[in-house]
Amino acid sequence: MSVDTIIRGGTLITPKGELNGSIAIDNGEIVTIGNPDTLPEASETIDASELLVLPGVVDPHVHIDDMFSVDSYETATAAAAVGGTTTYIDFAWQAWVGELSIWEKEGTLLEGIERKQQKGEDALIDYSLHGAITREDPTVFEEIPDVIDAGVTSFKMFTAYEHGLSNGFMNLAMQQIAEEDAVGVCHTEDPSICATLTEKFQEEGKGDPEWYPESRPDYAEAMAAEDAVRMAQEAGMKYYGIHTTCRKSADILEHFQEDESLVRGETCTHYCTLDDSIYAEMGTLPMIAPPIRKEDDIEAMFEHLQNGCLSVVSTDHCGYRLDQKQTDNWWESAFGANALQTSLSVFYDEAVNRREHSPSFVVRMMATNPARTFGLTRKGTLEPGTDADIVLFDPEETHTITSEDNLSKAEFSIYEGRDVTGRVKKTLVRGEVVAEDGDVVSDPGHGQFIHREIPDWE
Ligand SMILES: [Zn+2]
Repeated sequence: MSVDTIIRGGTLITPKGELNGSIAIDNGEIVTIGNPDTLPEASETIDASELLVLPGVVDPHVHIDDMFSVDSYETATAAAAVGGTTTYIDFAWQAWVGELSIWEKEGTLLEGIERKQQKGEDALIDYSLHGAITREDPTVFEEIPDVIDAGVTSFKMFTAYEHGLSNGFMNLAMQQIAEEDAVGVCHTEDPSICATLTEKFQEEGKGDPEWYPESRPDYAEAMAAEDAVRMAQEAGMKYYGIHTTCRKSADILEHFQEDESLVRGETCTHYCTLDDSIYAEMGTLPMIAPPIRKEDDIEAMFEHLQNGCLSVVSTDHCGYRLDQKQTDNWWESAFGANALQTSLSVFYDEAVNRREHSPSFVVRMMATNPARTFGLTRKGTLEPGTDADIVLFDPEETHTITSEDNLSKAEFSIYEGRDVTGRVKKTLVRGEVVAEDGDVVSDPGHGQFIHREIPDWE
């Protein structure tokens, strides 16, 4: 027997620990792991000496090619591949009409899925979708089973913005989602608190970006999280708190996790590595909603990742040009920042080098847990029989992050000038090398839409 590829000589990082071994890959799948002497012949051998061999990052929270991102699938997946991400989950939007919207008329979730699948023809890495419910139209409930059949088994709901839902409607939506055993993904910020503070600052002329975090305070996030998790619990819905930023909000999730839990939470790389002094330093560029918080909130993120309350680290990647971000007053700026290319290096450096977590911790938070949470059964591990989505990572190489390296159309980096130790050397998606030393080495279109299962949260 002979296989396509063998990765030889590296340290394999699994969710549970580390081992020295080689990986045999055939037809895009990991076929076996073991002592190199006992593995079959291979057409190609990749030398991983001195390198860590990780499952590819699974990023369950990105915004690509819509009103929240100028990136195309080609540019976003190039940035992802170079940064070590091999699968991401983007959003299929139910079209709405409004100031933030790009649509002239309302549409359905199934149309949103088709739209993104067309864009996805240019993907280099694999991708999946969350359905985003943006309007209080109960006909969406009839669509939910078909959306699930289409491989989209999670539903995003916002409490804030023009596409936010009232508690009343969200309560009904959660009951429908629970009925199908699917996952509800919630962005929680109390809309009236954020809107009233924003208006007040506008009237007072407080347009300096240092006021931005004050306009969307941590307690507003925690208040909306409390309502949402409570409704989810009543409905018996699998609840995923997206981009948790602060101690107050994480404590709410923890409170509701006391019983046999259907409550999970995510934070993002930036909430684990940056504090609000960045608004004085970089102005509107790091404006993300919810905002980047205080130093104690960074500590809270690591405490809650460590104790299992939070279990996933994502990017919330939004690709923006400078002209969309650099405005006279902060409220005129777009919300969001790009990170697909830098997230693994930045989080690895913070968690492992600065805080003495293990590389396995990084693998759990960025690959295994997101894959299991969202029913990506062939992703997020190095187990035989799963997709050969693999990153070769040099834990010793130091580099300085600069937006000059961006493959995303985004024209800045919130990590500009940060020195990080740990760098992606090679990325494989289903056995094919797609990126090497910062360059894309494969053609767009290799990526596939991944039809997700209903996840088992036992
Ligand atoms: Zn987002």
